[in-house]
Amino acid sequence: MKEKVENLLNEAKEKLNNANSLKEVMDLKVLYLGKKGPVNELTTHLKELSSEEKKEFGKSLNNLKTTLSSLFEEKIKYYEEKELNEKLTSEQIDITLPGVHVPIGVPNILEKLIEEVEEVFLSMGYDVVDGPEIEEDKFNFELLNIPKGHPARDAQDTFYLEGEEILLRSQTSPVQIRTMLENGGTTPVRMICPGKTYRRDADDATHSHQFMQIEGLLVDKNISLSDLKGTFDVIVKKLFGESCETRFRPSYYQFTEPSVETDISCFVCKGKGCSLCKNTGWITVSGAGMVHPNVLRNCGYDPSVWSGFAFGFGAERLAMLKYGITDIRTFYQMDLREIEAFNRKDVD
Ligand SMILES: [Zn+2]
Repeated sequence: MKEKVENLLNEAKEKLNNANSLKEVMDLKVLYLGKKGPVNELTTHLKELSSEEKKEFGKSLNNLKTTLSSLFEEKIKYYEEKELNEKLTSEQIDITLPGVHVPIGVPNILEKLIEEVEEVFLSMGYDVVDGPEIEEDKFNFELLNIPKGHPARDAQDTFYLEGEEILLRSQTSPVQIRTMLENGGTTPVRMICPGKTYRRDADDATHSHQFMQIEGLLVDKNISLSDLKGTFDVIVKKLFGESCETRFRPSYYQFTEPSVETDISCFVCKGKGCSLCKNTGWITVSGAGMVHPNVLRNCGYDPSVWSGFAFGFGAERLAMLKYGITDIRTFYQMDLREIEAFNRKDVD
């Protein structure tokens, strides 16, 4: 009997030594120490022995069980740790490896400038208004005091879609007309309209057949040219810095009277003269003026009671000046690397 116990122990030890995985060890444990295993089988022989032998054999059986149990537990612990370590190693993240670059989009520079202008006007109580790009002649020309036969209506300049009545708007001013008509000649208007406009220009560095205007209109009682000057000062100082000076020069537009061209002091040479300002010290940034009485009347506003001013910026021109862009086509053939570079300029 003693021999059997020893043989069993040696056999189990040998098998355990040859086991190569946690699973194999677990299987061996069930095989030897399970209910139907050889250790339990030996226990059944106890009853065949004398009480003296029973005592001794019982003791050695207990020893066998304890020894085997601790051997198995030791080996199980070994493999469990080994597997855990292997898992940790295989799942380890090397934080010193270079990361994967995920490109992040940046806003189009023109869109960004328009939003900047919108913010300034919104803070002064203006509404941002939208309107159709396919327009009727009456809104684009007629009601703006541009009668039939006026050179601005020339088919050389305007994209007509159907006869002479439907066209691609050549300015955003029709949105001003629509807004005034909606207000019915009875309530003040404060609005800006940034939007696409179309003219039959051949594309080159300074011309584009499609470009963005930012037009604005204020109609109220007792509005004068000095209100326009004050508003113009606010927006250009916001865009080009507090040291930016402004001046008005007389000009002529059909829909304003008087009309002005608005200049800002050259922010490159500070007035000394450079190529940007063509040595004048001044840069023209918009056209503006007091709303023509005919236009007010066309939209239901009595010019003896109401007055107002209107202005129009070319969004591309503003962005070109602000970001030092020399070719208008840059905005419409956008190279993503260029957009990123302009945005970086803004952050700097
Ligand atoms: Zn200059």
